[in-house]
Amino acid sequence: MGGRSVRDHNVGALPALLDRARHNNEAQLEILESLDVFPSTLPTKRDSVYSGWVSISVGCNNTCTFCIVPSLRGKEKDRRPGEILAEIQALVDDGAVEVTLLGQNVNSYGVEFGDRLAFSKLLRACGDIEGLERVRFTSPHPAAFTDDVIDAMAETANVMPQLHMPLQSGSDKVLKDMRRSYRSTKFLGILDKVRDKIPHAAITTDIIVGFPGETEEDFQATLDVVEKSRFASAFTFQYSKRPGTPAADLPDQLPKAVVQERYERLTALQDRIAAEENAKQLGRRVELLVTAQSGRKAEETHRLSGRSQDQRLVHFSVPEGAETPRPGDFVTVTITEAAAFHLVSDPETTADYSLRRSRVGDAWDRSQADSCGAPAPSASGTGSGGIGSSGSRAVSLGMPSLPGRRG
Ligand code: SF4
Repeated sequence: MGGRSVRDHNVGALPALLDRARHNNEAQLEILESLDVFPSTLPTKRDSVYSGWVSISVGCNNTCTFCIVPSLRGKEKDRRPGEILAEIQALVDDGAVEVTLLGQNVNSYGVEFGDRLAFSKLLRACGDIEGLERVRFTSPHPAAFTDDVIDAMAETANVMPQLHMPLQSGSDKVLKDMRRSYRSTKFLGILDKVRDKIPHAAITTDIIVGFPGETEEDFQATLDVVEKSRFASAFTFQYSKRPGTPAADLPDQLPKAVVQERYERLTALQDRIAAEENAKQLGRRVELLVTAQSGRKAEETHRLSGRSQDQRLVHFSVPEGAETPRPGDFVTVTITEAAAFHLVSDPETTADYSLRRSRVGDAWDRSQADSCGAPAPSASGTGSGGIGSSGSRAVSLGMPSLPGRRG
């Protein structure tokens, strides 16, 4: 869990955050102002970050048998669109160039106020926010995924070509036992439609192995769907009983050794697919949002890192004579190496590398100058977002890290 996710004033959210962190196998972040008195008025204070997370709904109307969320968070509650857009605008004014819309089931957004198309309208409205360069969302539910959302993704320039959509199982019997109301054919059909409209979309997923009663045949069905889906990466989980969930009381809980063996087969398959999909990126020009750098590896290789539009992690070197980007700047590079979990770009000349300085990079400069007492460098003039010209505000850069078993 991210270190700044829970403080004393929102400790009540801890069980749900822990649960979601375990469920998604990644750090979780909730902004108290958005959730504690939800639906909320606008938060009055935020750190300035290049990436922000905005909750559009809380709770869930589904009843997946492995999940504790419905009993912890109750029925879905949707924020009003105007309130969400105002919060996004406030984040952008505060320096953010990337926003991720958060909900347990984002594409059922609007159910509470009776607008079936509310989520696609929200995505399109994000496209009108000047200075907002990257919009992402997580997570949609396959059962509620409608064509208007795919159209909005394809037709809204700042909605990124990336989709994280939980599969959970490729077996229709297991999906039924999980009380997931779509079937594998529907899931694969959505992927086809997304790829038809957004050919280079990177699609990622969550999969649970060893749900009670899962047979070898059921597991094979999951492997088949994974093979067909060509996920860029997957969060894979071994089922474990969660007290208070219906699945915890199901018969036919599987022995740990069986679950482990299936898990290893699944991750081996997904690792191969991820490597193959990444290999297809070789030679492609990609724009990266440069992330804050840290770690021994970065020091050893002298490479910097960034995220592509489709959210792939790319380590890149700056060719001799070219300007070094700051966190929050954008660079465009050509992919020269591919591995299962990352890509590399080592441009040979400055012609293979271009830098677009951003107002977030300007804020980074100012924060660095503030921290060492040096005068702040002048702004690049690439944007007019609301970061104060005094440079006196602390600037916090970087998304919460998302560790997990991805492959
Ligand atoms: S859709 Fe299912 S897994 Fe997701 S939050 Fe709702 S009940 Fe839980």
